[in-house]
Amino acid sequence: MKHYILFGPPGAGKGTQAALMVEKFNLRHISTGDLLRREIKAGTELGRQAAALIEKGNLVPDEVVEGMIAGELAAHPHVKGFIYDGFPRTVAQAEVLDKLLADRGEAVTAVISIMIDDEMVLSRIKHRALLENRKDDADESIIRTRIANYHAKTEPVIGFYKAEGKYNEIGGEGAIEEIFGRIEKVIG
Ligand code: AMP
Repeated sequence: MKHYILFGPPGAGKGTQAALMVEKFNLRHISTGDLLRREIKAGTELGRQAAALIEKGNLVPDEVVEGMIAGELAAHPHVKGFIYDGFPRTVAQAEVLDKLLADRGEAVTAVISIMIDDEMVLSRIKHRALLENRKDDADESIIRTRIANYHAKTEPVIGFYKAEGKYNEIGGEGAIEEIFGRIEKVIG
């Protein structure tokens, strides 16, 4: 099975590109953000706890998302592979993913990092706020917290995958199809 990680700051276009990859390569999309929003919508205890963190722009605990990933892997045994979007967001999560996959005799295939700068993050998310109704997109100070958390906690994941020789970087500016073309070049 293929295991592709779509990496990048919030607003980089990971969800949009993941949808195109699903269509073209018949992969299963796992977005931990979407899974958490589903829990919130369903009003579960996990959702209530996650909402308090998400609405402030903070990460939810590693164990919570790791459990979700294990559940998704187990629930879809017959797919060609997975695209991870918004996961791993910490080095600890990357280590757990490696272990989960090693237990299956598998490994991360490639990491594709969609690069945009902080100012573009801000403008993309402000634009998304007009289209989607996400509380964490609605307020500039919350977006700035998410950017700060990305630099502090998520960026170190880059070094983890560079060390494994799996890290690829592409520009996140330009048209959606153009960016998808860059992804296709990486995953062939
Ligand atoms: P996203 O839709 O990927 O932007 O995620 C929305 C929010 O959900 C993030 O700002 C975090 O609060 C939370 N979240 C999503 N994925 C993770 C993760 N892998 N680890 C921790 N928190 C996450």
